[in-house]
Amino acid sequence: MNNKTSEVKPVRVVIIGGGVAGLGAAYGLTRPELEGRFDVRVIEKRTASQCLEAGYPIHLSPSGRDAISTLLSPADQERLHLARQSLPARHDGISFFNSDCKRIWHTLREPFESSLVERGDILRILRDRVKGIEYDRKVVSVKDLQDEAVVMLSTGEIIRADIVIGSDGMFSAVRKTLHPKDDFRPMPWVTCNFRLSPSFLKAAVSGLGADPRGINVFCGTGWSAALMPTHDGAYVALTVPSPMKDIRSAFASLPDLPLIQAIRADVNTNQGRAFPLYSAKYTQAGRGRLILIGDAAHGMNPFCGAGASMALSDAASLVKVLTGTEDLAEALPRFHNDLKKRADPMIKMSKVLLWLAQGKTPMGRVARGTAFRTIEVVEKVLPTRKRMQKRLDAVLADAEEAKRLDAALAEEANQAGISPVSSTSTLLEDTPPKMLRHD
Ligand SMILES: Cc1cc2nc3c(=O)[nH]c(=O)nc-3n(C[C@H](O)[C@H](O)[C@H](O)COP(=O)(O)OP(=O)(O)OC[C@H]3O[C@@H](n4cnc5c(N)ncnc54)[C@H](O)[C@@H]3O)c2cc1C
Repeated sequence: MNNKTSEVKPVRVVIIGGGVAGLGAAYGLTRPELEGRFDVRVIEKRTASQCLEAGYPIHLSPSGRDAISTLLSPADQERLHLARQSLPARHDGISFFNSDCKRIWHTLREPFESSLVERGDILRILRDRVKGIEYDRKVVSVKDLQDEAVVMLSTGEIIRADIVIGSDGMFSAVRKTLHPKDDFRPMPWVTCNFRLSPSFLKAAVSGLGADPRGINVFCGTGWSAALMPTHDGAYVALTVPSPMKDIRSAFASLPDLPLIQAIRADVNTNQGRAFPLYSAKYTQAGRGRLILIGDAAHGMNPFCGAGASMALSDAASLVKVLTGTEDLAEALPRFHNDLKKRADPMIKMSKVLLWLAQGKTPMGRVARGTAFRTIEVVEKVLPTRKRMQKRLDAVLADAEEAKRLDAALAEEANQAGISPVSSTSTLLEDTPPKMLRHD
């Protein structure tokens, strides 16, 4: 294996898959200051428009946010900031509801941190800088030969590379090559995604106490629904037992609760998409010249809300390793170990969270109640909760003051016969609603 990244000959990198992991890695390796060091090709089996379709809002965890900001240029960081602001999420907490749709607990973390972003927006930002993505081209197999790797496409074409990055998702061709027996396991659940209207969101907020600025999770008996506010209404991910004949029959099997009634009244079942859930048993980070990142390495069910953030973290740390060393044979095993250490616990955690949220068995429901109560107690004694509340109270007080100021300005303007201009509208717009207070 030629371990040295030569200054003269660029390292040939083939990235398989143009999701967040693949495009994140491609973005990092094609930064202008690295010109000439890497010759990067991205092969994606879907068309550009299929890849960029709206999809779903993803949760960016603090580590995902750190990872993407280390990758992006300042101009693209600004684009990402605007994309995050375009969704109404304004903190990183969650509201939980029990099987009667009663809000039982909610957290308040990182006020004013927009933790959600449309997946399509992130992909667009990454894609705009990565030139020449080869869409509509499918990889069928890869081989690690002694001195180079070989990538075979469905067209019969062969591409030679020094490094292959397998970022081709759950059913990765690269993972299959490396570990033919170690497949992703199907889970007995299906998640259906829907976009619902602003009137649905309004009903969920006023009728059920859903938080219009954060993530809401309704935990039923054998089902769960995650509700996130979007710029044009709401996104709902409804998880029901599999096998599911079709989305309509999945709805028919759910209890007649206010939330379900509101979804039924609003949903266009023809537009919903169903995702059978799968999970890796453990992380596989690759071997030799073949590297796995993102879902290909550690695909998990979405109940941790961490898959995309982990994919971005993988991309950022792989870029750091590839750009920071000349000795890849020494650096890559370290990358593989770090990835495994980071991702294995998340795979386990996502399974536990899925089990708790779905509450299918009596034991699951008891465990869920205990978990909520424990977290509640822990949160109460933690100083962070008090600090958050103090900060929020201060901001709310500021907002009240701003309102008074606005009213005074309007009155003055009125008396002077000029049209009033609110100097505080932005502050008021950014103020979290009262319902974010702990009750
Ligand atoms: C309903 C749902 C909700 C989710 N919500 C969240 C969330 O809130 N937060 C979060 O962090 N994560 C969430 N996730 C998970 C998250 O979307 C994934 O973890 C993340 O997209 C993984 O990115 P990736 O680039 O590794 O894989 P992918 O996004 O799956 O990209 C893989 C790409 O490889 C391409 N490809 C596959 N095979 C080949 C081949 N043979 N040749 C060429 N190209 C190929 C595919 O077409 C695809 O574009 C959710 C997932 C689902 C399904």
